Amino acid sequence: MYDLIVVGLGASGLFALANADKKLNVLGIEKNKIAGRKLNITGGGRCNITKVGDIKDFVNSYTDPSFVRPIIHAFNNEKLIEYFESRGLNTMVDGERVIPKSENAKDVTQFFLKEIEKRGHKLHFEEEIIDIKADDESIKVISKASEYECKKLIFACGGATYVETGSDGKLMKKIFDISPLEPALSPMYIEESSFDSLKGVTTNVKLNYGKMSFKGNILFTGSYLSGPVIMDISNYIQLGEKFTLDFIPKKTIDELKLEIKEKAKTDAKKLLKTVLLEISDMPESLLKLIINEVNLENVKLADLKSKDLNLLIEKLKKYTLTLKEKFPLEKAIVSKGGVKVEDIDNKTMALKKDNRIMVVGEAIELVGNCGGYNLQFAFSSAHRAIFGK
Ligand SMILES: Cc1cc2nc3c(=O)[nH]c(=O)nc-3n(C[C@H](O)[C@H](O)[C@H](O)COP(=O)(O)OP(=O)(O)OC[C@H]3O[C@@H](n4cnc5c(N)ncnc54)[C@H](O)[C@@H]3O)c2cc1C
Repeated sequence: MYDLIVVGLGASGLFALANADKKLNVLGIEKNKIAGRKLNITGGGRCNITKVGDIKDFVNSYTDPSFVRPIIHAFNNEKLIEYFESRGLNTMVDGERVIPKSENAKDVTQFFLKEIEKRGHKLHFEEEIIDIKADDESIKVISKASEYECKKLIFACGGATYVETGSDGKLMKKIFDISPLEPALSPMYIEESSFDSLKGVTTNVKLNYGKMSFKGNILFTGSYLSGPVIMDISNYIQLGEKFTLDFIPKKTIDELKLEIKEKAKTDAKKLLKTVLLEISDMPESLLKLIINEVNLENVKLADLKSKDLNLLIEKLKKYTLTLKEKFPLEKAIVSKGGVKVEDIDNKTMALKKDNRIMVVGEAIELVGNCGGYNLQFAFSSAHRAIFGK
């Protein structure tokens, strides 16, 4: 009988095993030939481990801040960085993103494997768990070839995206009562076809959706929208809902109007589009497209009517779009849905109905924004499962 079995050797399972007491009899089981297949491709192969910044703002970047708060506070971004650094995995900050200094995600996986080896925990590869059954005596962990018994189990099988990395959601669907799995951190197709011509164009925007707003880059690919603000909003928005883009987020509507009116006094013969290019950071192709939509392409400042200026500014500051479709689940970066937070005690990550079974990482229904939040949650939840409150 094992003291602990960890099913799934991805980010959260590896962290749990690397911290499980060496005095315990521990087994880790992974269906792939190797550990950390998804971890190895995170952050474009550089692994965005977490994000620097105030932990108060941090928890608001998850779809369920109140569930996440104590988990993240107990093992926050600073503690995670300190954990890696003090054990020899150096990190660095790139913008606000924390990545391994080697800029190689595989080093994070190798780091964990060494820590697990030091503790002497056993690992089985190429063994898919097909069922888990708990009775009063023990928990039975069943693969095609074997059946294991343990006192405690950590379920770390991930979500249901990028199925080629191993996380397919099959086992969680079988053994838990889960909320529906949906694509999250996903590019989005929109109803309006306005941006078809802007392939490869990227710009800084403020995206507004209901009471939420996200600042950052948007990428026009020609057929769909991508980039961090689109990925983040995809965690919340539903099909058919509208959102707006502010293409000149650094200036308010009044500031923009005033600036254009002032320019009209000194540069009356200049074309409106030339002036807008001077006073905004918008790519020319995007600006041209919007100016064309309001038929002001050849208008000089001297001829600009107040109502036309208002119409243009409305487009530049509140360009309205409708979500048509997200990427299919398998192609999204993470999956929303999974084991319900209401079924988990966030002091221990254990199921409320059976405190011997803990659930960590992306298998839990919540998701975080782009930029290291999902790995931080995978590590913090695994920390919570091992060390409790
Ligand atoms: C392309 C890409 C880039 C990403 N980049 C980032 C990033 O830079 N920063 C960030 O914070 N997040 C990123 N993410 C999200 C992040 O990788 C995941 O949220 C995180 O890996 C989840 O960790 P996990 O341990 O829950 O699951 P996983 O890492 O998916 O691990 C689950 C493991 O369980 C195994 N498993 C599944 N079922 C079974 C079974 N029945 N039996 C045995 N083993 C099983 C799987 O093979 C897998 O190894 C990225 C995701 C993708 C797809």
